Amino acid sequence: MTARILDGRAVGREVLAEVAERVRALRARGVAPRLAVVLVGDDPASAVYVRNKGRRAAEVGIDTVDLRLPAETTEADLLGRIGELAGDPSVHGILVQLPLPAHVDPQRVLRAIPPEKDVDGFHPQNMGQLVLGPPALVPCTPAGCMILLDRTGIDLAGKRAVVVGRSNIVGKPMAHLLLAADATVTIAHSRTRDLPSLVREADVVVAAVGRPGLVKGAWIREGAVVVDVGINRVDGKLVGDVEFAAAAERAAWITPVPGGVGPMTIACLMRNVAAAAEAAV
Ligand code: NDP
Repeated sequence: MTARILDGRAVGREVLAEVAERVRALRARGVAPRLAVVLVGDDPASAVYVRNKGRRAAEVGIDTVDLRLPAETTEADLLGRIGELAGDPSVHGILVQLPLPAHVDPQRVLRAIPPEKDVDGFHPQNMGQLVLGPPALVPCTPAGCMILLDRTGIDLAGKRAVVVGRSNIVGKPMAHLLLAADATVTIAHSRTRDLPSLVREADVVVAAVGRPGLVKGAWIREGAVVVDVGINRVDGKLVGDVEFAAAAERAAWITPVPGGVGPMTIACLMRNVAAAAEAAV
């Protein structure tokens, strides 16, 4: 079997077009959706992510406020700045780019963002809503994976899904979304025994680890759906966590890296900003 491509670029564009429509409707009602992006320090990768988010926002008509703070900003200062954004009714979404400098507790910072402006979906209240349902603002990467599967017509009910990785931003929320879609879900992590056997049994594999080629093509079950969240730079090239070519020989569907989950993530961020602005009206 040669896999078909789960095309995040195409579906991402579709989602962005829907967001642009929602933003137009909001503007017609006198509401200008606005996203505040907070960047602490000068991590080059973070700066690229922030720039891309700003570009996409502009494309769909969302205003952005950039708050760039020096690496030595204290936690108290940062919390103060977030407090100001929290109290500003013209700001509908607040995003703090991670990672934060080591002297700042990310959990304390994420808790300072009001849940209704938490467009990354990382606040404990939004994470709790995700588990209990109905979900409110859902973390962008797993939300993007689910939309990509749904719009491609992949039915998850009763499927055996393995999520490799248990981070708070990808693995855990992804597992809950798959469960809510009636998949039978296993979460694997660095202490999991015999990962190959688990993956071999999976109808759906989501890899979110951050290790190039960790998931071998030979582990993939014939006809499986493979969602590769990983972004790794190897010899100047971006690759995922799955051995793409070998996996594509066996899978029915697979996401490329780049062009799979990445564009869906940013589209879902814009979708969350539109939703936050609509809820504030
Ligand atoms: P984290 O580093 O937070 O989590 C990695 C997870 O992988 C951990 O749960 C870890 O287990 C697990 N793990 C590590 N080694 C192994 C192993 N040998 N076998 C099985 N599991 C293992 O990463 P993130 O979740 O933040 O990101 C994962 C990847 O996704 C990265 O490449 C990141 O760049 C990418 N990413 C891509 C996005 C996109 O838009 N496409 C958005 C966000 C992330 P343990 O908990 O036991 O340590």
